Amino acid sequence: MESCCGASKSVTSNVVCPLSKTKGKQVKLITLEGLLNANALAQLESDKTYYFCSEQECNVVYFNEEQQVFIKNDLKVPVFQKDLKEDVLACYCFNWTRARIREEIKQTGKSEAVHEISMHIKANRCGCEVNNPQGSCCLGNVSSFIKQVEKLY
Ligand SMILES: [Zn+2]
Repeated sequence: MESCCGASKSVTSNVVCPLSKTKGKQVKLITLEGLLNANALAQLESDKTYYFCSEQECNVVYFNEEQQVFIKNDLKVPVFQKDLKEDVLACYCFNWTRARIREEIKQTGKSEAVHEISMHIKANRCGCEVNNPQGSCCLGNVSSFIKQVEKLY
């Protein structure tokens, strides 16, 4: 699997979400700084480590070990893992929504998304750290969504 932008592999920690008890993936501050709306950003504690909760049913997006949480409404963008709507981005850097991927597969039987995104990654154009709420490369999410849709057509 290709990875990108130095954020590449997200490491699962043993720190669990206060709400869903899901193990969090550590994210860099720059990800929160890029994606929190103004009110939430004003609560950010820059000396703390934050974690991403990937549980679909959970309203918490980021948390720290002091039980501080940022929820879905604190972000400027919908979170792929937590919002199943068709217009939600899977690839936040190059604008691949679920709808765009689904439409491409409907039309052509396959999706060029992974190929195209990989090309951009190779050319160092990827900005997952500041664009993607999970703070790491989107390719895993994109390719599993493609597999899921391809089964339908
Ligand atoms: Zn959670």
